[in-house]
Amino acid sequence: MRYISTRGQAKSLTFSEVLLAGLADDGGLYMPEVWPEISREDLRRFRDLSYSDAATEIIGLFTGSDIPKAVLRNSLNQAYGSFRHKAVAPLYQLSGTDWLLELHHGPTLAFKDIALQWLGVVFDYVLKRKGERRTIIAATSGDTGAAAIHAFQASDAVDVFVLHPKDRLSEVQRRMMTIVRAPNIHNIAIDGSFDDCQAMVKAMFADDDFRSALKVSAINSINWARILAQMVYFITSAVALGAPNRALTYVVPTGNFGDIFAGFCAERIGLPVAMLAIANNDNDLLTNLLSDGQYRARKTIATSSPAMDIGNPSNFERLLFEESGRDDAQIQNWMAALGCGEGFEICPAVLQNIKRKFTAASASKEEVATKMRTIYEDYDLLVDPHTAVGLVAMEKLRRSRAIGDSVVTLATAHPAKFPELVKAATGQRPVLPARFDDLLGAQEFCTNLANDLDQVKSFIRQHARQE
Ligand SMILES: *Cc1c(COP(=O)(O)O)cnc(C)c1O
Repeated sequence: MRYISTRGQAKSLTFSEVLLAGLADDGGLYMPEVWPEISREDLRRFRDLSYSDAATEIIGLFTGSDIPKAVLRNSLNQAYGSFRHKAVAPLYQLSGTDWLLELHHGPTLAFKDIALQWLGVVFDYVLKRKGERRTIIAATSGDTGAAAIHAFQASDAVDVFVLHPKDRLSEVQRRMMTIVRAPNIHNIAIDGSFDDCQAMVKAMFADDDFRSALKVSAINSINWARILAQMVYFITSAVALGAPNRALTYVVPTGNFGDIFAGFCAERIGLPVAMLAIANNDNDLLTNLLSDGQYRARKTIATSSPAMDIGNPSNFERLLFEESGRDDAQIQNWMAALGCGEGFEICPAVLQNIKRKFTAASASKEEVATKMRTIYEDYDLLVDPHTAVGLVAMEKLRRSRAIGDSVVTLATAHPAKFPELVKAATGQRPVLPARFDDLLGAQEFCTNLANDLDQVKSFIRQHARQE
């Protein structure tokens, strides 16, 4: 199995090369050259498999001979051994036709753990095989940084630098990162916003000398391996609920479009899916795009679901590539227009293709708070603000008959990760699982730096073991 770039100008790579590269040289995103297929019989067979065993079969279709099957199986067993639910991604039934898919049973209580726990293991395997080291640099508004730190803290082939905006994260989010003490983990608090952190990471990736000297890798949601790992729970949950004989709708709280694109990939390889519903907060570019076809990157608006505060969802490029019939010249034009700050209009035929499988709705802060309260009143259940965005979108789409029955909404974070917001909406303070008892008392390890690219670069050069 080889991978090609959505912009058509980079050379094709193997899975392990794509894993380490993240972004393609031409600025595009990697996609499988051909789609493998799973049959209806395979889907029926998955019903009797554990999560890791199903993951081995599904992911194995895309890694081919690059990762030996036994290594793949071990890596997945190891990754999901740290989850506190035997099913890894269990379903919670809300009504006769509605479920939540709980993706927050990992070490940092958000769905990012599902992909990153596996990335940590498979990175180590690939790097040991090559005798290489790597430097991972990431910006986080909360969940990605914590998941990456917990995934790579035992790795001696990878150094991790996570930039977060000082004083902008919840205390729980910050401490999940800063209490980790390991020689390869570096927390950097920047005097600035998340956008400032992100801009610095982008600048470091664009600096060829810096990138090759430090062997920098990207593990943000454009990394194909993350999409791949996220495909698995769409398939295991659908199978548990009757696939292939039943097609479900998935409502996905969406930020960078990685999670819902994984659902698209699952459908692409053979899973029957009724609809994929994008749930947006006030950063609702994609909800508007489905009605007017206009793609205009915007400044982000701060909401109660910060992991979805994204004004330019990078993985959407992958969908445009697929739905335009893999027209890489068209993608180049669109992305060039976006790069000049202009935006672009999706041609009607491509928009029509997208609308065949996708629908969308958005939720305001007030609607999210009301939803958290009514879910608590009706089901005695606390949900986090991201999950509540999904539930608001689900209700709106059902009312307008854009989706039918049999709906799975993805629960992307544990409510205890956002205790203040949940308490304000419901009057109940969600309790952190007992394994976090030391979280609020433990010592923090973090370096505070100015919003200054040169300072950050020299700190990374000093502390990365690559040099
Ligand atoms: C990252 C994240 C999302 C958004 O996922 P994307 O793949 O970026 O669309 C939603 N909810 C939570 C809790 C997240 O951490």
